[in-house]
Amino acid sequence: MILFASVNQEECIACGACNSAAPDIFDLDDSGIATVVFAGDNNRGVTAIAEELQEELQEAFDSCPTQCIQLAESPFA
Ligand code: SF4
Repeated sequence: MILFASVNQEECIACGACNSAAPDIFDLDDSGIATVVFAGDNNRGVTAIAEELQEELQEAFDSCPTQCIQLAESPFA
């Protein structure tokens, strides 16, 4: 299943777990808040995450302590 991803940044506690699990999908800003950077998505959730990264994406999702990584089967916007 191909998924789209976006971080609810208001709930992100800047722990870095998602970036460790999936550095090609999530990056951290200067404050440590995560954003989806895959293919220039800029956290809009409109870019399908590549099939070969789906496992990493799931690991990041599972590792987020605040469940602020949102996944969907269709684009967020
Ligand atoms: S794992 Fe969750 S709380 Fe931690 S930096 Fe990533 S999005 Fe934020």
